[in-house]
Amino acid sequence: MIPLSLAEIATAVSGQRRAIPDPEVRVTGPVVHDSRQVTAGSLFAAFAGARVDGHEFAEQAVADGAVAVLATRPLDVPTIVVDDVEVALGALARHTVAILGTDVVALTGSAGKTSTKDLIAQLLERLGPTVWPEGSLNNEIGLPVTALRAEEDTRHLVLEMGARGIGHIRYLTELVPPRIGVVLNVGVAHIGEFGSREGIAEAKGELVESLPAAEDGGVAVLNADDPFVRAMAERTRARVVLFGEGEAADVRGENVRLTEQGQPAFTLRTPSGCSDVTMRLYGEHHVSNALAAAAVARELGMSVTETADALSSAGTLSRWRMEVSERADGVTVVNDAYNANPDSMRAALRALAAMAGGRRTWAVLGEMAELGDESLTEHDSVGRLAVRLDVQKLVAVGGREAAWIDMGAKNEGSWGEESVHVSDAQAAVELLRRELCPGDVVLVKASRSVGLERVALDLLGGE
Ligand code: ATP
Ligand code: MG
Repeated sequence: MIPLSLAEIATAVSGQRRAIPDPEVRVTGPVVHDSRQVTAGSLFAAFAGARVDGHEFAEQAVADGAVAVLATRPLDVPTIVVDDVEVALGALARHTVAILGTDVVALTGSAGKTSTKDLIAQLLERLGPTVWPEGSLNNEIGLPVTALRAEEDTRHLVLEMGARGIGHIRYLTELVPPRIGVVLNVGVAHIGEFGSREGIAEAKGELVESLPAAEDGGVAVLNADDPFVRAMAERTRARVVLFGEGEAADVRGENVRLTEQGQPAFTLRTPSGCSDVTMRLYGEHHVSNALAAAAVARELGMSVTETADALSSAGTLSRWRMEVSERADGVTVVNDAYNANPDSMRAALRALAAMAGGRRTWAVLGEMAELGDESLTEHDSVGRLAVRLDVQKLVAVGGREAAWIDMGAKNEGSWGEESVHVSDAQAAVELLRRELCPGDVVLVKASRSVGLERVALDLLGGE
């Protein structure tokens, strides 16, 4: 972060300085909310969590090098006292980004935010120093903490914005206003909280509503292939750039296919030319993510050949998303256990089918959480899709939802032993240890709360 004096920070966050002998002492960063991450020059943000109260770690944080603590009450160490630490963190991020004038790219969508953020980051790094969050730091704490990592020479700040409800993305855009906003898709993730896809579109569209007008540089990058996203063009004053596979897209993927390894290949076509891309990532859903990233890179001045080159060499930066590993005995494990929703489940199953190449395929699947009334239908249809894609073995892991996946498969394909329902990850591991043969390909996927990566990690020898 840029060095800021405690006096300046206190003003930016409307806080009171307490036990601070010299207000000109500077915080040189980072801003952390886990006292174990404190280093010399840090600012420690003390959150009162449900289980632990950060205020209790304030002294330790200062002993470890923190210059001061952001807290809701005066402490025995240098403290900036505020009403709400979360709000203060946001205000400090806004202040910092405004001073720096960093160009901010923000993205949202039901599926693919983190993957696309990682792609955009790898592209923009080629243009200049870029800051992006690790993993999925996309909420009201993670987002400002990431923004506060920007430095004097940072050219681009790439932020992921998640929505848990109406008004949530608007709040995030007020913390760190983006110039370029990307909306990937409106799926059914978290539909339980929003009630309908229209509700999800309403919430995600807040990103493009926040953008500056076209004449002030605002750019809305929208998915032409998703009608809910495309309709957001009506909700923004920014210039609209469409990406997708259809005719309407400005940044288009043509001749889209999966290689025999299951990696997407396509021709990237933009108004300034075209160039071929073969990705290192797995799964056709990355085509859409790559086109979104290409549209952003184009806005920031990257040529189409360099964009294609960067997309062809981009790797995954966040773990457990279609991570493909091969064991010594030739068993391939596809760990996509980071998270799941119906869209990403379908995408992953199709990638598994494409990778098969005559080998035996296994889908080890668990619950997709937060689907509300749609839950039974969606789990059932995942089981059915596995059969239609010719997956040979299905292991549904967990409770009622897993039973629905198993039932879908059995009904679709008159399956018997091809589909098994087991109660937990341990049971799945035992079954797989017994039955896997050299050359088999195993996909492991479920919502985060299931923790199904345990199965993949166990198969890979506890890595
Ligand atoms: P979260 O809301 O959990 O942060 P996210 O939107 O950041 O999720 P990713 O972590 O990139 O999404 O991917 C989550 C899952 O969705 C992965 O299993 C990935 O394979 C799949 N996925 C990625 N991109 C897409 C896409 N464009 N469409 C459908 N599924 C996708
Ligand atoms: Mg994410």
